[in-house]
Amino acid sequence: MVFNFNNTYIKLNKNFYSEVTPKKIKNPKILILNKKLMKKLDIENNNDLAEILCGNKLLSKPIAQAYAGHQFGNFTMLGDGRALLLGEHITKKGIRYDIQLKGSGITPYSRGGDGKATISSMLREYLYSCAMNNLKIKSSQSLAIILTNEKVLREKIENGSILVRVMESHIRIGTFEYVSYSSSKEELVKFTDYVIERHYKNILNYEEKYLKFFEEVMDKLIDMVIEWTRVGFIHGVMNTDNMNINGETFDFGPCAFMNYYDPNTKFSSIDAYGRYSFKNQKNILLWNLTRFAETLIPIIDSDNKNSIEKLNKILKKFNEKYNEKYYKMMKLKLGIKKEGNFNSIIDKFTTWLEKNKTDYTNTFIELINPTLFADKSYSSKEFIELKKELSEIGLDKDIMKKVNPLYIPRNYQIEEAISEYNSKNSLEKFNKLLKIIENPYLKKPNSKIYQTPPLIEYDLKYKTFCNT
Ligand code: AMP
Ligand code: MG
Repeated sequence: MVFNFNNTYIKLNKNFYSEVTPKKIKNPKILILNKKLMKKLDIENNNDLAEILCGNKLLSKPIAQAYAGHQFGNFTMLGDGRALLLGEHITKKGIRYDIQLKGSGITPYSRGGDGKATISSMLREYLYSCAMNNLKIKSSQSLAIILTNEKVLREKIENGSILVRVMESHIRIGTFEYVSYSSSKEELVKFTDYVIERHYKNILNYEEKYLKFFEEVMDKLIDMVIEWTRVGFIHGVMNTDNMNINGETFDFGPCAFMNYYDPNTKFSSIDAYGRYSFKNQKNILLWNLTRFAETLIPIIDSDNKNSIEKLNKILKKFNEKYNEKYYKMMKLKLGIKKEGNFNSIIDKFTTWLEKNKTDYTNTFIELINPTLFADKSYSSKEFIELKKELSEIGLDKDIMKKVNPLYIPRNYQIEEAISEYNSKNSLEKFNKLLKIIENPYLKKPNSKIYQTPPLIEYDLKYKTFCNT
């Protein structure tokens, strides 16, 4: 058996999903298979693997999940428009993982879309998910990319593919929005209990269980965004349907890593006003959590006014919690192990970064190993003084090496790798990138090129896209 399926979502209210039989794929071919992940999750290989991974051969009933979401601030009914939950796989250790196909064709939630995914965008998602996991950030994982032999019409005609995505679950803030707006209070209670049982067992016995649940989700999502900030990750489309309830980063569409430090950085082509820019990720998280809080109002207290008051009390803690975690993370990045408040020197450092627009990743490496990078800002008087000041309180190399990656996938290198595949059918560059980010904290020989940011002009023009 390839998967050890034991499906629970299908036992929930029938309005929460639709059973879908995937369209048969002619001659599916596995382009990339993540053998390490297969081993980690106790997924067995067999001769039918391609047929199973593309949904031709079914081991259980696939479903498309219903959800809603606030997209760029506007409420919309959504659902898996180009994805299917193949089943819930249980590892030998008893951990449950959703095995989801992305790009597997239309579903009742496709809303006029074609249900497909291009090979370029799935290669991108594969690489980002590997990078994020290797950077030790809880994220969706990619098991395989399957070639579908179908054409997909985007700006130009591209080859189609299916990504096999693995997550602890695909339940989102948007799923709660859907359940809360479309179902009775009893159904919302049942669904919330299901989610608590699945992801928050630690609070099962709390007196005010649903309120505690809200706070736990808030904490996990704060941790998630702090981790993004640690490595300069910009998600790019923090709509509430892309916010996983369990704090797993997912949906690597218009995301990108920031090179030159500028809090206003955004790459998404449709994000005209920078709603999801690097610096706005904090505020948008609070906005999204407020939408989440609204969905729970009916079940926190029998009196809505009390519910709102209780939820607000927790939301009011957001800023303090976020800042505390942010400065704690930045202390580690700067190798400060002393107890105490170092917020002002941390702010001074990020102000310097912003003023000089130096490479975010490389500046921390430069602090560990001086004169590694040929950026003239690093020989400026201001930087030398800042370094001296920091060395008096921190710059502990052992701490810094654990949290500051040597390598992040550079946007232009990802584009080059994808374009090499599209033009020459070669995964050589792609596989090299994968190898480099296998352990981004470990120095690799002859790899300076992977630490080289693009010209700033490239980054200023660089655009990423949704739904490709
Ligand atoms: P995303 O921006 O990837 O989070 O997608 C937002 C919504 O649009 C989700 O409900 C997707 O399932 C849906 N969607 C994205 N691309 C397509 C497509 N090509 N066909 C159908 N639905 C899609
Ligand atoms: Mg999405």
